Amino acid sequence: MEKVYVTKSFLPPVEEYEFYVRQIFDSHHLTNQGMLLQKFERSMSSFLNVDHFQYVTNGTVALQLALDALDIKDGEIITTPFSYVATTSSILWERCTPVFVDIEPNNFTIDVNKIEEAVTSKTKAILPVHVFGYACDVDGIQKIADKYGLKVIYDGAHAFAAKYKGRSLLDYGDISTCSFHATKLFHTVEGGACIVKDKEVDKKLGFAKCFGHDCDEYFRIGINAKQSEFHAAMGLANLVHLDEILQKRRNISELYDKLLNGCVERPKEQESLDYNYAYYPVLFKNEQELLNVFEALNAENIFPRRYFYPSLNKLSYLKKYMPCPISEDISSRVACLPLYPDLEKECIVKICQIIKKAQMGTN
Ligand SMILES: *Cc1c(COP(=O)(O)O)cnc(C)c1O
Repeated sequence: MEKVYVTKSFLPPVEEYEFYVRQIFDSHHLTNQGMLLQKFERSMSSFLNVDHFQYVTNGTVALQLALDALDIKDGEIITTPFSYVATTSSILWERCTPVFVDIEPNNFTIDVNKIEEAVTSKTKAILPVHVFGYACDVDGIQKIADKYGLKVIYDGAHAFAAKYKGRSLLDYGDISTCSFHATKLFHTVEGGACIVKDKEVDKKLGFAKCFGHDCDEYFRIGINAKQSEFHAAMGLANLVHLDEILQKRRNISELYDKLLNGCVERPKEQESLDYNYAYYPVLFKNEQELLNVFEALNAENIFPRRYFYPSLNKLSYLKKYMPCPISEDISSRVACLPLYPDLEKECIVKICQIIKKAQMGTN
């Protein structure tokens, strides 16, 4: 059997990509805020219904640019230990200190009730993650931020096309970032974005991603985080398929729900969230059960992933260990099952059978 991974990048019919690539060949304009990039940024702003959408090279640099544009240096950043490593490493790369606050067990997002006790005189910002596309308690977090004068940056790498209380989940906080990496729900091969609230901050970020200057005027220290026309082309070609992508992911998730009902723990449904089916995370009873299930699936060429493991508060290069027992427990027994638009029904049925059989072997 062909190998089945946790995801498989969606690709549009090649003619649809070619349609845009021909325009690039005709214009010879390959990068530097070209026509396709501008069109992509406009399409995305309008899809998300946001004012300031900055397309950048990836979701990691998007986080770094967000910290930079909000002038956050040398401070403590309150963040979650349950995420991909880029959430923590971008904080460290910007020479700030991550302060881990444990997660809540229902949706694996930062526990808003534990944030205040982590605030010190050095705290500059809160950087939570809408992990797996589940919404953080955005209202509770904003309240704390207002009380202590902190910035809020959401790592929304998983939050594209999710809506919370009728608004894009990327429309909360001072800046929300997103990733359009090939493994994400919606991708542009590589790519990311900053969705910025304040117009002046947006301007700073726009310069920062293009070396910090506009022609002969040099405004601030910049880097090169701008995207190419070829990436924008993939974005434009994929965007028209978004509804179909979301619908198929939803169908697959619902089939898993039906077949795995009661065998695994699942995150709770969130009432105000229009979910995007970005991932299909399941919790096993313990790490041993997870390892047994993985062994059985791998033997059949099926490769789920331990998203996210280890809990980031345990990274070896951190200066000190801050215990986060809930995140550590969940990390030890959570996995994301294969989920992508053309994953076949027979394959899902097989995955679920293998899981149940391996679970029986564990007991
Ligand atoms: C993928 C991901 C990133 C990084 O995005 P890239 O585009 O790969 O740089 C950051 N945070 C989270 C939670 C992610 O899953």
